[in-house]
Amino acid sequence: MPERSRHDDSDTMDRTHHDATTTARRRESDTDTDRDPETVLELDGVVKEYAAETAVDSLSLSVREGELLTLLGPSGCGKTTTLRTMAGLERPDAGTVRLGGEVVADETHSVNPENRDVGLVFQDFALFPHLTVAENVAFGLTEADEAETDRRVSELLDLVDLSGHRDATPDELSGGQRQRVALARSLAPEPDILLLDEPFSNLDVRLRVEMREEVRRILKEAGVTAVSVTHDQEEALSISDRVAVMNDGRVEQVGRPESVFEHPESRFVASFLGQAGFLSARSEEGTVVTPIGNFAPQRLNGLTTEYAGTDLDVLVRPDDLRATVVEESEADGHIVHRQYTGPSFVYRVELHNGDLVHCQHNHVEELDIGKPVRVELDADHTLAWYPPRDGEESATERVSDSVRPR
Ligand code: ADP
Ligand code: MG
Repeated sequence: MPERSRHDDSDTMDRTHHDATTTARRRESDTDTDRDPETVLELDGVVKEYAAETAVDSLSLSVREGELLTLLGPSGCGKTTTLRTMAGLERPDAGTVRLGGEVVADETHSVNPENRDVGLVFQDFALFPHLTVAENVAFGLTEADEAETDRRVSELLDLVDLSGHRDATPDELSGGQRQRVALARSLAPEPDILLLDEPFSNLDVRLRVEMREEVRRILKEAGVTAVSVTHDQEEALSISDRVAVMNDGRVEQVGRPESVFEHPESRFVASFLGQAGFLSARSEEGTVVTPIGNFAPQRLNGLTTEYAGTDLDVLVRPDDLRATVVEESEADGHIVHRQYTGPSFVYRVELHNGDLVHCQHNHVEELDIGKPVRVELDADHTLAWYPPRDGEESATERVSDSVRPR
């Protein structure tokens, strides 16, 4: 059971424990201002076990018509297995998969991949080397006549901006062009849903950023519903309509990128989606005592008087904090590390109580390592917070430690 943030809005007044997915789903519908879009794909309580472990653990998720939803999580958390279950390449040990309202898999049966209207884009693009670009794209159009195939291929090559490369073979193309051919080929039969597993992992870093904008444009222009998978939080936040953050075979939170980033419901989500520091705080009558001074309770999202007298951890990101070099006697802690990112410096500060936090400064504000500093909160939003951890280190913390900078 992941720890839940208690920052929730008024709807989650009950303090009972909820399964992560249930909570995430309800929050999602609360923040949804659109009309209720049609659900294209739905996983309900899906479990997939291998001999040694549970790869997917009671996972529930809905994918809406026309959206690009990204499964984001660390390596081994079950993203690929989930995608393969959607495609019909794996059959679930429990739970149901619905595609276009019909059950395509449950404990008793599973519709084969070729009988589901699902498109797959493989990591290595899997193009036929001996076929031309046009022939690759036409490959899946077995039911169309020649004229129709020709029309569709031209339309798709236009969409992916490769009309001038119709007759080229894959070895004559760049990595980005090969990816666009793979995309056009998967889109050709007009699948109900397109599944992409780590689609940018075979591209070099510069091309990756360029191609993620391009792939998003193509998917949106095609109007296709898509699920992509990545372990890269920046990629997920930048291309997706919604992000489902996975940990240990489960979805911990699903929502719009800005919603999961700004209102992470667990420490895991907070740490996985960027640099996260936690202040060990205590809620008192009318104030919150922290190692960098006292805050008004209103600065913490949804903190009620009910929590007076309890300990809590307050989430602070680098852009929420500023460090100023001061005399030792006035300091809150010391600078222990400096990370230069180009536009900014991120200073890691060890506070007197041992808490580690990050402070982001303009690239010209160079502070020396070892200096005593005062740390101030400079956030124009309310802060998320979490109940204290219970002693032993959880899997969540191990992962979040590994994604923090050294
Ligand atoms: P991800 O894509 O998030 O990296 P995967 O879905 O590939 O994760 O794997 C989830 C877990 O299931 C991993 O621990 C992995 O070792 C295990 N796993 C995946 N596929 C198999 C398989 N065919 N046989 C046994 N274990 C598997
Ligand atoms: Mg994978």
